[in-house]
Amino acid sequence: MAETRDIIGYRRDHLEVDPPYLVPNYKSSRFRAPQQPLVSLKHTLSEVTGPVFGHRSVAKHEADLTTQHAAPPIGQRITLSGRVVDGDGRPVRNTLIEVWQANSAGRYTHKWDRYEAPLDPNFGGVGRCLTDDEGRYEFVTIKPGPYPFGNHHNAWRPAHIHFSVLGPAFVTRMVTQMFFPGDPLLVQDPVFNSVPGERARSRLICRFDLDATIPDWANAYIFDIVLRGRDTTPTER
Ligand code: FE
Repeated sequence: MAETRDIIGYRRDHLEVDPPYLVPNYKSSRFRAPQQPLVSLKHTLSEVTGPVFGHRSVAKHEADLTTQHAAPPIGQRITLSGRVVDGDGRPVRNTLIEVWQANSAGRYTHKWDRYEAPLDPNFGGVGRCLTDDEGRYEFVTIKPGPYPFGNHHNAWRPAHIHFSVLGPAFVTRMVTQMFFPGDPLLVQDPVFNSVPGERARSRLICRFDLDATIPDWANAYIFDIVLRGRDTTPTER
């Protein structure tokens, strides 16, 4: 077994695309941001290794958020697909992608969500899948609604879907949010705007793909996730 001193940690090499810890306009970051200089700890074996998922432990139906309950959820059915690639465009295979989102009215199935919008008994809002040999993933879901939050007066989160990409180890897990094109709420969202660069922010917006739509069934959006390099997808630190 490797000793901890032999273990090389993982590091993101393009931190300028990720939001800083402290974004004054984003109220929660004022409470969360470190107040002291960071202390680097050596990664241990349990951090640089991860769970091993076989194709049987992640079931195919977990990628379809519209068929997990007794009836279809209310809302606009969409497919959401893309690829996870490294900085050279090579596929990241067999990696676990998890998504979570509000329902079409903007309400999460969570006890702390007090927004006065209806819950949907046919929508849980969580899904997961593994990327294939080309790094591809695909979910079927409904388009989430925007919801208000307490950041500032009349603050609304634009419609978004939360993403987690696990990678090969617990310490390589990345968390980000995906937004929809043309959303008028993007300009006032402190989370979206915590990403410093305009180009980097644009990489958080999925792309509508008419060719990928399924006639009489679903609209289609594409969201590629790039882990490194100049086209890196911004993630939460
Ligand atoms: Fe959210």
